[in-house]
Amino acid sequence: MIQSYIRDVPDFPKPGILFKDITPLLQDPKGLELAIGGLAKLVDPASFEIVVGIESRGFLFGMAVAHALKKGFVPIRKPGKLPWKTASESYQLEYGSDKIEIHVDALKPGQRALLVDDLLATGGTMEAAIKLVRRIGGTPVASAFVIELGFLGGKQRLDIPVHSLVRY
Ligand code: AMP
Repeated sequence: MIQSYIRDVPDFPKPGILFKDITPLLQDPKGLELAIGGLAKLVDPASFEIVVGIESRGFLFGMAVAHALKKGFVPIRKPGKLPWKTASESYQLEYGSDKIEIHVDALKPGQRALLVDDLLATGGTMEAAIKLVRRIGGTPVASAFVIELGFLGGKQRLDIPVHSLVRY
């Protein structure tokens, strides 16, 4: 069971947050197979051409799923990391705001993309990623997560289908 590889860490990175630690899942070959094989089976490979992963844990899962399904991979990164021309999107956090960026030529016009991150909480990060993909001319077709914190309602905020392996 994939849940048994996810470690709950209370009060990280700040008081009141129950952090879902996926490092035990990555460490164990069975856990890794449950995650990558599971994600690859959740999505329809014919519905998209490329995987977009969100820094940084979205890279771990997005890249592996892309390789398993013989797709390419595009990184969405924190500001100032991508060397070429970028588009950027700011979004609100509980306290303050954050920003993510993508290369303007990362997707071909209309190219259909699967967006991947490790965990869906309030949905703010994925909502910004969807906007970015559209801004550079791509077509987000679905999002996929290892973990969904259903009680935070992030899914309601997204206008593309949400796939997740574990819901809390
Ligand atoms: P959100 O934008 O609120 O959906 O938050 C999603 C992003 O924050 C993801 O990239 C997660 O990795 C991270 N995140 C949010 N809450 C948690 C949590 N409880 N445990 C681990 N990561 C989290």
